[in-house]
This record gives sequence, C-alpha cells and structure tokens, in this order.
Amino acid sequence: MSESSKKAEMPGMGRTRRGGKSMILMMFLSILALAVILLFLFVKVYEQEQMLARLSGQVERLTRVVQENQTGQEEPAEDGKLTGDPGEGQVGEEKTGEDTGESEDKPGGEGKETVDLLEDGDSQTENPEDLEEGDLAAHKVYLTFDDGPSIYTDEILDILDEYDVKATFFVVGKDSDRAREAMQEIVARGHTLGMHSYSHKYSQIYASVDAFADDFAKIREYIYEVTGQESTVYRFPGGSSNTVSNLDMWLFADYLETQDVRFFDWNISSGDGGSQILPVETLLENCTKGILDRETNVVLMHDSAEKHTTIEALPALIEKIQAMEDVAILPITEKTHPVQHIHREE
Ligand code: ZN
Repeated sequence: MSESSKKAEMPGMGRTRRGGKSMILMMFLSILALAVILLFLFVKVYEQEQMLARLSGQVERLTRVVQENQTGQEEPAEDGKLTGDPGEGQVGEEKTGEDTGESEDKPGGEGKETVDLLEDGDSQTENPEDLEEGDLAAHKVYLTFDDGPSIYTDEILDILDEYDVKATFFVVGKDSDRAREAMQEIVARGHTLGMHSYSHKYSQIYASVDAFADDFAKIREYIYEVTGQESTVYRFPGGSSNTVSNLDMWLFADYLETQDVRFFDWNISSGDGGSQILPVETLLENCTKGILDRETNVVLMHDSAEKHTTIEALPALIEKIQAMEDVAILPITEKTHPVQHIHREE
C-alpha cells in the first residue's frame, strides 16, 4: 500500500501523527533526562571513589610516618649541640638576643641516620594518583627560608615559580602592607607558610613558657588574619638547639605540641645566617652537602634584606639539586618527616 492511499483511507491521521510526533519527542526528552541523571550519578560515584582512594593514600602515609618514628630517628641527637659550637663555615658566633639569623649549624649531624626505606613500593603504587610528584623520590629536599618576608621575597617566589619548585617560608611578624602581600603571595603560589615567632627576640620569647605562648599566639593569629590559613609548622629562632635559651627547649616544644604544631630544624645549613655574606659558590656547596646520603634534607636559608647572595645562588642551587638522581624538592607539610635537633630521652 502506498503512502498516499494510506492517507486517503484514514482522515484523522494528520492529528494522530502530530500526537505521535510529540509522544516521540516526549519519550526522547525523558530518555535524554534519564541519561543526564545517569551521567550525573556516574560522575558522583567516580568522585567518591577518587576521594576514597585519596583517603586510603593518606592513611598509608600516616602509617608510614608512624613506622618511621618507631624504627629510627632521622637525626641522631647531637650532644655537643648545647655548648655553642658554631658549625663549619659558620661565621656568626652565638647570638645573644635581637639579631636575626641562626648561627647554630649541625656539624657532623649529617649522614648518620639509618637509612631505612621500609614500606616503599607495593603499598604506595596501589594509588599512584594520590602521590604527589616527588613523594617516591629516594632523597627529598625541603628548601626553607627564615626571617622573611623581606625585599627579596618576591624575587625568591619568581625563581621558585620558574623552576616549578615549592618551598617553605618561616616568617616573623612584620607589620607592613608589603609584608602582608608577600605572605599572601607565598600561600597563593602554593608554598608552605610556617611560623618563626612574631618578635624573633630570643630574650623575650625564651624568657618563659608564657612569654613564648604569647608570642606564638601573635604570629599564628597574624598569619591567619592575613592569609586565612592556619599555620601548623614552626621553626624556633636559633633552632631547637639554640644556645641562648636558659630554659629547656622541651618546655617550648611541648607547648607547641599542645597546639598541634610541629617544629622543624634543619640538617643542611646554607651558612647564610652569619654576619658575613657568603659567596654564591660557598652557598651552593653548603646547601647540597650530603643530600644523596639522606632521605630527608631540610635546607636552612634566609629571606632577609642582608642576604643577597642567597637569592643569587638560588637558581643554580635548584638546578644543581634537580640534576641529582632520584631527588625531589618539596614543601614541608604535615607528612614531612620532622628533622629536629633535640630528641626526647627514651
Ligand atoms: Zn631566624
């Protein structure tokens, strides 16, 4: 039967056809809606899975940290530490007060740790997407800058960006627009903003736990007010092994623990904390010493108006480290193995 004869036989067909068409359209639309809903659900489920994977990665990392803490110390305690021996290449003598710059180095503190790479491997490769680049590197380098912000902070940030490197800035309380902008930039560009006391006045902050707590609250609140972020890492002015404090540094370390803040010292000193300006070559040598002997390397440098050679050395330093085998430069985070000069007696 031909199309035209069909039409002729059924007069009401035009309307039903239109009705049929809109039925089909409706059906099509509902199928489309269904498909959209399914797609949405699928994406949700996928996101959940991703999140679960990330969470399990975090649990693994935590387990790893606990295991590391149980099986060995990164840094053997240095006995001579509290007697005020300036480290090799360090010019600054013991600091007695207001001056900036840590003079305490860690002479011979390097290369002694027992290298135990327990759990690397299987457990980590299960969730490769949780791992940030560099997490699996055998040698991790944490570049840290104390005493900033300074006139050089912007320059340091630009250099770090250029090499796609994240670092850690232990800042002090500087009440200026410029300093506040620098702190915001540090956070915005993905670096870690740590605390280094508000006043940086040894005589004040180490006078008593109360004095320390007051100063601590001040820098913590200041960072929060300026950046909207809660800082969770601290570096003692002079380091935990400073020779200035008359009180046991554990009093302050214990206080930090009650505040859920972890302190970090260093096991590589650039030497730029002394009063003499070190040439770029010396800084490069100091800052790369022993990296391949250790798993965790925390490099002490200064972000300070007087330390221009530190900034001059930075590009070459990063290049030198990046050229090393199986080395990654990372910012300090909560999962970073703490490098501390003082150790609890067991
Ligand atoms: Zn300092």
